[in-house]
Amino acid sequence: MEETASREIMWNIDHSLTWIMYLSFLVALGFCVYFLVKRWRLMSIGAPVDRTSNWKQRLKGMVLDALLQLRVLKKPGAGVMHLGMYVGMIIMVIATVVTAAQSDLGFQLIYGDFYLYFMSLVVDLAGLAFCIAMVACIVRRCVNKKLDTKPGDIIVLVLLLVIGLSGFVVEGLRIVGTDDPWRAWSPIGNMVSMLFVNFTPEQISMTHQIVWWSHMAIAFSLIAYWMYSKLVHVLLMPADVWCRSLEPKGTLPYINVEDENLTTMGVGQLEDFTWKDLLDAEACVRCGRCEDVCPAFNTGKALSPKNMVQSLRSELEVRGPIVWKAQHDGAKRDDMGAYVTAEGEPYPFSEQQQVTLDRTLVGDAFDSQALWDCTTCGACMAACPTLIEHTPKIVKMRTYQVSMESAFPPEAQATFRNLENNGNPWGLGWQTRAKWTEGLDVPTLAENPDAEYLYWPGCSGAFDARSRKVSIALVGLLKKAGVNFAILGNEEKCCGDSARRMGNEFVYYMLASENIATMQAYGVKKIIVQCPHCMQTLSRDYPQLGGNFEVIHHSQLLAQLVHEGKLQCSAAGDKKIAVHDSCYLGRYQDEYEAPRAVVSAAGATVVEFERSHEKSFCCGAGGGRMWLEDKSGKRMGDERAKQALDTACDEVATSCPFCLTMLADGMAACESETKVRDIAEILAQVQ
Ligand code: SF4
Ligand code: SF4
Repeated sequence: MEETASREIMWNIDHSLTWIMYLSFLVALGFCVYFLVKRWRLMSIGAPVDRTSNWKQRLKGMVLDALLQLRVLKKPGAGVMHLGMYVGMIIMVIATVVTAAQSDLGFQLIYGDFYLYFMSLVVDLAGLAFCIAMVACIVRRCVNKKLDTKPGDIIVLVLLLVIGLSGFVVEGLRIVGTDDPWRAWSPIGNMVSMLFVNFTPEQISMTHQIVWWSHMAIAFSLIAYWMYSKLVHVLLMPADVWCRSLEPKGTLPYINVEDENLTTMGVGQLEDFTWKDLLDAEACVRCGRCEDVCPAFNTGKALSPKNMVQSLRSELEVRGPIVWKAQHDGAKRDDMGAYVTAEGEPYPFSEQQQVTLDRTLVGDAFDSQALWDCTTCGACMAACPTLIEHTPKIVKMRTYQVSMESAFPPEAQATFRNLENNGNPWGLGWQTRAKWTEGLDVPTLAENPDAEYLYWPGCSGAFDARSRKVSIALVGLLKKAGVNFAILGNEEKCCGDSARRMGNEFVYYMLASENIATMQAYGVKKIIVQCPHCMQTLSRDYPQLGGNFEVIHHSQLLAQLVHEGKLQCSAAGDKKIAVHDSCYLGRYQDEYEAPRAVVSAAGATVVEFERSHEKSFCCGAGGGRMWLEDKSGKRMGDERAKQALDTACDEVATSCPFCLTMLADGMAACESETKVRDIAEILAQVQ
């Protein structure tokens, strides 16, 4: 009868000593639990937020982003390396659990095909992939000076590699010591066993015991150290992915400015952040992917999204325990932000603790210039494998600075004043908003109350000389296609995008609530916008104030009209046009194809930037940066113009008035004649 494939479990190990192994394991677990309790306490100082409901959607995200590592794999080299470690580690842990189940719980699992195919072949190959990935990772960390590598990171990798290699040595010694007839199914262990063929049985037995116990000791030490090292992301990353925001992309937290009990707005101190924001800080793996794609960082400005998250983490380390203790003792912050006991007495902090508490979040913990460098382009969030939410944190800190401290760049003052007084950032007379329509026969909603669409040109489309040409081109196309539309005319006000993203929630609220009331009075249902920032605000911000409208970007409507045959190209073109993806249309609204469809419909050949679609490089005007000076580094628009010239295109197509301005300025700075036009202008020219 043919022998069933198997092996002796715990060969050469005294079973009566396995209690040492389990005791070590429990001690190591104790360290993990202690860490978890400490971390949970720190995070619990944050403000409440619901990030656990809708488990089905959260589970789906976990499977895709944590289990299958889809976001990690977006960076092919590092992603594959990480996958090797991850899959190798999971398989080896499963094999260890199966071995323990047979050895100590009496399950009979390790025999036959399962033994040969999984426990021998698959586990061996997984171990090999794990070791190769570890070596690659150590070399990369030692060679690539751009990586944020700390000594502890290397120590952990070396320990993991030693665990992997010593596992093979243990296997090789067992194979040669037992003259294993199934050795061919463990190809790596079999190769390692060749090293010991000349050992005497005693030498094999002794070496095996030494390496086996060393392997265990290192493994348990690593489990104990796990939570204190970068490896903690194995736990925190899935937790962060599970607790991600399920709201539409770019949604900012709602603030009820009419609430009489509202005493503060935004984030002024660390504990004003939500616990999820603090979990983000803990979960960051310092991979630097956010920094690599950040246009502010890449143009030499003070902002690095990675450093911002790390600054919050450092602040949590020093401030967190002090605040937790005070909160735990029932202390609360008074209107001045000082902690007082339940009796209203100042909480008795030590002098040193008070010095720590007196640190400001913006200024001491986080660079105040960096706060204003962000364009809220969302590239960092799209790149982050841990789904950390950088932009809302920046806007929340700005909100506090503006609303509570009146601390903002001086040039923002004029913008806020202009928005308040005239409903547009330039401060041009509100009663001249509809001047661009003169001679165009564009009806207002008062004149055409049955219009299917409200056309919303936005402040740029109404006041900016360059963008007015886009509005005029679009009106011509809408008329040609027979679209029934009307405008609000002088009743329209700035949507409030810049105000909100610069942190001025009051001015945003004033503008938004007036616009919503006006549109609701006219019974508006559908809105055409040509500005992705207006689109984001009207479709994602206004519902928080009760304004629910169907918002369509002009690229989407034009692509649809072309598809329906209502707009056609009358002239064959031979131009190569580079399509620049607006951050707010692409990354926030997930629209990449419509602008390309319009450019193609105009008879042009679409050429792509090296950084396009989700990786598009911001023009530099979002997040209110349109109205602020560039105080340091290069201008992002100039950088993007250079990237456009690298494509050897004849022309650049934009679908956002801010991008149009910034790229045209960038072309001028590059002393290039290359035209920058909106997609509506490009299509209108061939009608
Ligand atoms: S939103 Fe854009 S500019 Fe702001 S930190 Fe992220 S990548 Fe940088
Ligand atoms: S925030 Fe995200 S992308 Fe940036 S370093 Fe941390 S984990 Fe990496």
